[in-house]
Amino acid sequence: MNFELSTENLEWKKKSRSFVDEYLINNRNLDSHDNFPIDLYKKAFDEGFITSMIPSEYGGGGRSLFESILSAEEFAYGDLGFTTSAFLMRLSIAPLVKFGSEEQKTKWLNMISSDLHFASFCFTEPEGSTNLGTRPASTTAKKVEGGYIINGSKWTISNASVASLYTVFARLENQDSGLTCFLIPRELEGVKVDKPHKKMGQRAADTAQVNFVNVFIPEENLIGRHNQGAQIALHSLKQSRVGIGAMALGVCQRARDLAKNHCHQRLTGEGNPVIYEQDVKFQFAEIEAKIEMLRSFVYRSCWELENNNSGTFFSSACKLMGGRFAFEITNQCLDLHGGKGYLVDSLIEKLVRDATLLKIYEGTEAVQKLMIADKAIRQTKRSLK
Ligand SMILES: Cc1cc2nc3c(=O)[nH]c(=O)nc-3n(C[C@H](O)[C@H](O)[C@H](O)COP(=O)(O)OP(=O)(O)OC[C@H]3O[C@@H](n4cnc5c(N)ncnc54)[C@H](O)[C@@H]3O)c2cc1C
Repeated sequence: MNFELSTENLEWKKKSRSFVDEYLINNRNLDSHDNFPIDLYKKAFDEGFITSMIPSEYGGGGRSLFESILSAEEFAYGDLGFTTSAFLMRLSIAPLVKFGSEEQKTKWLNMISSDLHFASFCFTEPEGSTNLGTRPASTTAKKVEGGYIINGSKWTISNASVASLYTVFARLENQDSGLTCFLIPRELEGVKVDKPHKKMGQRAADTAQVNFVNVFIPEENLIGRHNQGAQIALHSLKQSRVGIGAMALGVCQRARDLAKNHCHQRLTGEGNPVIYEQDVKFQFAEIEAKIEMLRSFVYRSCWELENNNSGTFFSSACKLMGGRFAFEITNQCLDLHGGKGYLVDSLIEKLVRDATLLKIYEGTEAVQKLMIADKAIRQTKRSLK
């Protein structure tokens, strides 16, 4: 087992950090409503970050999952919202990369790589996401001659306002359950996007509802087979949830650094920096331990996904613990700022708002626990045989 990063990995990490230092760190414009920083996304595209995960044979950077993780951690140190929109591409194109035909990949991945294009992963509906596997989807696909007619809405969809392509999960109209995956280009008649949602945090990321009103798509826009949608969604989310662990790692380090800086400057009655008080030292000890545990777990989970086909347990555990650590550590670091932490200028309150989303999107804690419990219970049964 070798935890040392290769020279290439280190260079990629350094390149990501330079971008963050130049454009994201302390950029308070990234925290405003109705201001999607398209110029910065264009720069990120020009430097190869946005399409880094697209296989090189289709014009992308051909970066591995591990390299995406390294980059996402750096970007999350700078701004979580920007990281969400910039790295969502991996999730949005995962159905195409794994389950698409050669013609589909050639057509759509080359298009996305050619210029700054966003793609969205459209799973959640206004009726919710958590129980979509067990309730009938409200978005439907009606089979007609030569293709399908799609009707329904997808809600809280990242990059929906700016996407050129939507990966949409819908129920076949003549069936009570099951999901099927379709590609829907933005320019088709009947595709309508609402005004972006105003959010508590991660404001540099776009999030909106997209509506499909009698949208005709040709047969060739079906991904995989009828009713294979749940499998496609789960496979795609597996990789992306490890990315959330990496984003948690980035934001935890930023929160720690801000808190350390404050505690070095704040003095006790005796004139010593509060960071040398035992209670404060112990808090930083726990934060460091959690950060390094999370790093090891993110790397291990990534290795499992790249080398073993399964990895569901690891990706859900990564998302569960990453989201939780990010929430706990950003809040703890706000406490360590005292009253200043509550003020907007401290920046730490933004990190708390941004990090809260890591617990919610791509499945709440309950969803991750259900996935983990499923594996844990099956394992126990086997060992008792
Ligand atoms: C900013 C943002 C960006 C997003 N981006 C995307 C995106 O790009 N694509 C996409 O498809 N979705 C996206 N989402 C949706 C997100 O994935 C869901 O909001 C999330 O998975 C939670 O689902 P829900 O909102 O339906 O919660 P609900 O299902 O309404 O759950 C409410 C509460 O009940 C609990 N609960 C519900 N059902 C159960 C159960 N059976 N057992 C135990 N507890 C349960 C949940 O854990 C939660 O605490 C985004 C959301 C936000 C806020």
